[in-house]
Amino acid sequence: MVLASCNLTKISYGLAFLLLLFPAFSFAASTARIAIVIDDIGYRKSDAAAIKLDGNFTYSIVPFAPLTRKFAHAAHANNKEVMAHIPMEASRNNHLLGKGAITTNMSKDQLVRQLKLAISNVPFAQGINNHMGSKFTTQPQPVHWVMEQLAQSNLYFLDSKTSANSVGESVALKFGLQTGHRHIFLDNELDQLSLERQFDRLIRIAQKHHNAIAIAHPHPETIAFLSTIQSKLNQLGIELVPLSEILPYTTKVARAKRLAPAAQSQNPYQSAALAK
Ligand SMILES: [Zn+2]
Repeated sequence: MVLASCNLTKISYGLAFLLLLFPAFSFAASTARIAIVIDDIGYRKSDAAAIKLDGNFTYSIVPFAPLTRKFAHAAHANNKEVMAHIPMEASRNNHLLGKGAITTNMSKDQLVRQLKLAISNVPFAQGINNHMGSKFTTQPQPVHWVMEQLAQSNLYFLDSKTSANSVGESVALKFGLQTGHRHIFLDNELDQLSLERQFDRLIRIAQKHHNAIAIAHPHPETIAFLSTIQSKLNQLGIELVPLSEILPYTTKVARAKRLAPAAQSQNPYQSAALAK
């Protein structure tokens, strides 16, 4: 008995010592984090309500829109992370692309010039994600030119995953970028029940894998919903963080997956990502 309790004491001292050595590790392992990127910002005055939301939301702002610069400055002044939401050629509805779009018929020079102009139109952008892009992101050559440029400018790439065949993330990895893809579109349906269902899916992914990324849009219904999530996140001990804090983790996961293609079926995000 004495021996047993002595061993127990040794074990608990050992555990305490380990926690002392690795407090950050024990914390990180138990904390789930989500990033919510609100994109398509810049067209409507009402987008201001999205910028005013409390919490670490990330804002992806459309270049050359009437309110691009105003909202980029407002978000930055509110200590929010800013991204450039770059229009890329889609398989259809390309009349909706807007100014600054990059397309698969451009030469490298044209594409890089257009991309640089679009990014520089969004002050404070730390990275980009694709607006539309269901065709563009499946074409290795132009995607390669995009990632080369992002690497030179030290910007990250979030794949909006508008096509299941996107090569964005894998080409971004080749250029050493911080990268990841959205796991959930939060507001494809705007009724309360659908918003809750998608948010719960996001939470479940974060609880299982510690990190999860959602894309949302500045619809009044979405903004009203997002203004209510903080208490639930507090209850569950989940942290809402800027996208750039999640990307080191998703980059590591994507790199490991690339090095071990046989483990692809184990990809924690596959079912969620392709469900859209
Ligand atoms: Zn968009």
